[in-house]
Formats: sequence, structure tokens, C-alpha cells
Amino acid sequence: MDEVECVVVGAGVVGLAVGRALANAGREVLVIEAEDAIGTQTSSRNSEVIHAGIYYPAGSLMARFCVAGKLALYEYCAERGVPFSRCGKLIVAADEAEREKLGAIIARAAANGVDDLVELTAAEAQALEPSLQSSGALLSPSTGIIDSHAYMLALQGDLEAAGGMVVFSSPLVAATPDGDGLVLSVGGAEPMQLRTRLLINSAGLFAPAVARTIAGLDPAHIPTEYYAKGNYFTLSGRSPFSRLIYPVPVPGGLGTHLTIDLGGQARFGPDVEWIDAINYDVDTTRMPLFVEAVKRYWPEIDISRLQPGYSGIRPKIVPKGAPGQDFVVQDQSVHGIAGLINLFGIESPGLTASLALADHVAELAGR
Ligand SMILES: Cc1cc2nc3c(=O)[nH]c(=O)nc-3n(C[C@H](O)[C@H](O)[C@H](O)COP(=O)(O)OP(=O)(O)OC[C@H]3O[C@@H](n4cnc5c(N)ncnc54)[C@H](O)[C@@H]3O)c2cc1C
Repeated sequence: MDEVECVVVGAGVVGLAVGRALANAGREVLVIEAEDAIGTQTSSRNSEVIHAGIYYPAGSLMARFCVAGKLALYEYCAERGVPFSRCGKLIVAADEAEREKLGAIIARAAANGVDDLVELTAAEAQALEPSLQSSGALLSPSTGIIDSHAYMLALQGDLEAAGGMVVFSSPLVAATPDGDGLVLSVGGAEPMQLRTRLLINSAGLFAPAVARTIAGLDPAHIPTEYYAKGNYFTLSGRSPFSRLIYPVPVPGGLGTHLTIDLGGQARFGPDVEWIDAINYDVDTTRMPLFVEAVKRYWPEIDISRLQPGYSGIRPKIVPKGAPGQDFVVQDQSVHGIAGLINLFGIESPGLTASLALADHVAELAGR
């Protein structure tokens, strides 16, 4: 039976970043991917925003890895020629009641080490973004956007340059602990068995399903998966804004915001639609809700310029109505299985956090 020192399940942005970190640490790495290309799932169905790290609870993994990941990601993009823009974002208060909440957002960001937010009057905000209507805003200068596919290709390139490999159409179908490692059954056109010392489950929406195939893993450590779809509507023609525009958050979400991609295309979303099974259809009947939300900061929105865009699904591990869940990283100290690390609930800001999360996993794996 073939042996590989480390096997990473899933070639999304997190699996690729983890594989790269392990390979850079001198370890032999194989990334196995069920689909026939990198990043076909959540990693290519998101807003491509480099988040500043404003809202996550202080001390949470999301807060720590978002802030550290953001710094590492800007540096990485500059070094590796990955297209990005530090375009900044405005958090917009639609009325006086919302304007009074801006101070609390500044304090929350500061608790996470994000101390560059600037409070703007309505006139100052409009001077930056002439189409914007507001009662005041916060400018987050360290928020940006990235070409996530170019980023994933750069990670794959680094991994391969360090001797690692990505294999496609190779789903993990079962794993059995064996001595100081695990024996893996990999499916696909040429099924095979592999022995490994280290297995990283980075299967995104499917991470709980993959965990259930690992013999001897106590089900108490496997969360139930829930799916919260985020729909996007795109805006044809020129973007009315050059920065990202976010409303003051509403309970349970960041509100319907406007993001721009590096090509200058504006899109609204993602909203939150809880679904029972994975499907990426965009429900066009949701459009009026988008229009109402967007009108609060852009009253001139012209509905004929909106069309259904795409959707992504948040890999939730708590049901609708439950308080938000932090990233979950489980190693042997949690579940007792030597050589196994599970990653669950890696939703936003997983793209921003990927390099810092990968360093954390590589450090756990080296213990
Ligand atoms: C709507 C939305 C918007 C978002 N916006 C942002 C944003 O602007 N900024 C940000 O920082 N984050 C954002 N995120 C979060 C970010 O996209 C995710 O955290 C990140 O993409 C997760 O990457 P991943 O590698 O864990 O998962 P995925 O990209 O889903 O990759 C998992 C991979 O595992 C593979 N796989 C599954 N099962 C198996 C198996 N049995 N064997 C082998 N391979 C398997 C899959 O095919 C897939 O390729 C957003 C998320 C959503 C849903």
C-alpha cells in the first residue's frame, strides 16, 4: 500500500493553504479533491472580500485568524502577483438610530486590533461616494478585494514547488485509524488505499459527512451540517460606488451589501436563505427584498439593471436562530484519534483567514 506523510481532503482555498503550509514546513503532502478542479465549491462562490476583522467576537478564532490572515494575505498577494485592491469599505448608517451604533462598531473592531476605522459625517461620506445617501458612515481602509481564483492557483503553485501534489476526481470515501496513522480509501475512477500519518479534513460543506466515514470517531465530535445560501444579484453597467458599501449590521447578518469585483462589476448580496439540501439556484422572487434594502443607501437604484447572479452556501454547523458559531479546529486532544485534524464551519471570513488558519493547522500537526 502507498504511503504519504500528510493527506489534505479538499482543494478549496483552505485545503490548498493548509497543504502549502505543510509542504513549506518540509512535509510530504497530497491534496485529494473530489471534483476535477480546484476551488469549485464555496471558494469560488463568495464575495472575494478581504475582511478587516471588525465584527467577530474578541478572542474568537474568526477574529484572530481574520486579522492575522488579512495582513498575511495582502503581503502574499503583493509578493506573488495575485490581483487585489485595498479599495476600502463604508459601513453606512441609514438614519440617526443607526448612526448612534457606529461608536459600538468602532469599539468592537478595536477589541480585535482593528483600529483604523474612521467616522465620517454624511457630507464626508458623500464626498467620497457621490451616489451614497446616509446619516453618517465608517470608513474601513483595510478592507479590500481579491481575485480568489488567482490566489488559489498561487497556493497550488507553491504547494507543488515544495514537492506537494493535488489529485483530482479522488474523493475520500473512508478512513480507519491504524497504529500511529490512518488507512484511507480513496474513490474515483481508480480507487486506491493509502496510508498516512496525518489526515486534514478540509472538505467544506462536506466536512461533517467526511468525518462520519472515519472509523472510531465519536459522533459527539461531528457537528450536524446546516446550509445557509447567500444569493447575489449583479448590477449591469458601471458601478455607482468605488468602495464596498455595507449597511449597519442587522441582527443575524451583515445586511444586503454591495461589493465590487476587480473587473468593476457591482453585485448585491449575499442574503441569507436557509435550505435543506445543496442547490445553487438563485431565487429571483427575492429581488424585491434586495431592492428595498439597497434603496436605504442608494435611492436611485434602477431595478432594470439588476439580474440574478450566483449563490454560495455557508457551511453552517448551527441551525437557524442559534447564536453564531466560531471556526472549529479539532485535533487529537479533542477527539482522541492520532493524526486527524477536522475543520468544521469554515464560513466567512475563511478566505481572508486562510493563511493564518493554515499556519495554525500546520502548528497543531507539528506537535
Ligand atoms: C456566500 C458566501 C460569501 C462569502 N464571502 C466571503 C468573503 O467575502 N471573504 C471571506 O474571507 N470569506 C467569504 N466566505 C467564506 C469563504 O468562501 C469560505 O470560508 C472558504 O471558501 C472555505 O473554503 P474551504 O476550502 O473550507 O471550502 P470549499 O471551497 O468548499 O472546499 C472544500 C473542497 O472539498 C472538496 N470535497 C468535499 N468532499 C470531499 C471528499 N470526500 N473528498 C475529497 N474532496 C472533497 C470539495 O469538492 C471542495 O473542493 C463566503 C462564503 C459564502 C458562502
